[in-house]
Amino acid sequence: TKKHLTSKKSHDEACLYMPGGNTRTVLHTSPFPFTIESAHSCYLKTVDGHSYIDFLGEYTAGIYGHNHPVIRAAIEKALDGGWNYGAHSKIEQELAKAICTRFPAMEMVRFVNSGTEANMMALATALAVARDTPVKKKVLVFQKGYHGSTISGRTPSGKPSINLPHEFVLGKYNDVQGTKHLVASLPENSLAAILVEPMLGSGGCYAATCDFLSTLRNLATQNKALLVFDEVMTSRLSYHGYGTVYDIAPDLMTLGKYLGGGMTFGAFGGRDTIMSLYDPRKGQLEHPGTFNNNVFTMHAGVAGAKLLTPETLDALNERGDAMRGEIDTILRVHGIYDGCTVPSAPVVDEAVHQAVNAGRPPKMYIKGVGSLMCMHFAGPDREELQGLFWHHMLENGVYIAQRGFIALNIEITQKHVESFVSAVEEFVTQWRDEL
Ligand code: PLP
Repeated sequence: TKKHLTSKKSHDEACLYMPGGNTRTVLHTSPFPFTIESAHSCYLKTVDGHSYIDFLGEYTAGIYGHNHPVIRAAIEKALDGGWNYGAHSKIEQELAKAICTRFPAMEMVRFVNSGTEANMMALATALAVARDTPVKKKVLVFQKGYHGSTISGRTPSGKPSINLPHEFVLGKYNDVQGTKHLVASLPENSLAAILVEPMLGSGGCYAATCDFLSTLRNLATQNKALLVFDEVMTSRLSYHGYGTVYDIAPDLMTLGKYLGGGMTFGAFGGRDTIMSLYDPRKGQLEHPGTFNNNVFTMHAGVAGAKLLTPETLDALNERGDAMRGEIDTILRVHGIYDGCTVPSAPVVDEAVHQAVNAGRPPKMYIKGVGSLMCMHFAGPDREELQGLFWHHMLENGVYIAQRGFIALNIEITQKHVESFVSAVEEFVTQWRDEL
């Protein structure tokens, strides 16, 4: 607290106007969150004058780091041309083309302003497609899934926090047999959509199995329901979308976060036979949206798309894999993984994976794919350890999400990764008895 007195004062003032001084629940930290003054490259500077390496990467929206000159130039260009047209622009075509060219599942796209909105629109689309069948209203989502402020299955109680008037059904992620039974138990012809992340992002960076996703594909097809991949986070894990790694095509997909160049962004789209319902010349479905084609996002998104070549994304994901490998090694060498079902498995991740699945997770472990990962703690003192770890990393100049989520950005170099890894090693050494 002493190190952040200016942040404390700032938080006290914010509390006068926002509940708990907060407008993004996930950013609240106890006893108070720190306030950022500025950010550059991969560094955040607080109003108290402290600097942190940003390993949170704005929950994946900050893939370019801060103040990237290319994005900055694009925003300056947007400023020069004015920004509230109330009309179409060339730049929105450019972004639509960049996105549809990159993601094969996105034959046609529509823009919105957040990932939350993208998923709400995708479900609204699926329900509109099903509207001739009155009972076809159910939407299958999964525990620990997160699809935005309005659709979340990751609450501590395990109950979904869903604020939409849809008939949601909650399945267990990666449970092939259970999901088949669940769908079979539904009233005939009632399933309209299946909404799933190909890797649980906020839910802890657990990847789907190929078997699970292909089961969902088959269940959707058999039930004439739409399969929606929420790739708001995972699209960065593979140039053409994480679904393509499994060679499974959804009917609709949603995007968000970094694809707007760090500006507010979301997109939904998919098969052109479905998306053409939005063709205003046919007058079937409406989707107006004042800021759908907002000029800053369109410019920043196009600049970002040019920056993120397949090579850049591959390098970023390889850096993440290597970082996780190093952390795994530390945890194994210090005996934290002892007792995992296959301690000598060639891929540590696989041994931990099996232990987690068997309900015997180590007290500390890391999960993830490429540039996205999450540090987990298990056992009765899980929350205390998670809090200790978060504070320990801050003390070592590293900023991550409180719940352990980490997203690399392209400004992070080997030097920063080394700082991160050695801070983890110090934590493990210091708290070995508790782990
Ligand atoms: N879908 C997934 C998979 C997400 O991780 C998130 C945000 O974390 C969202 C949707 C919601 O996006 P937004 O915060 O832009 O509304």
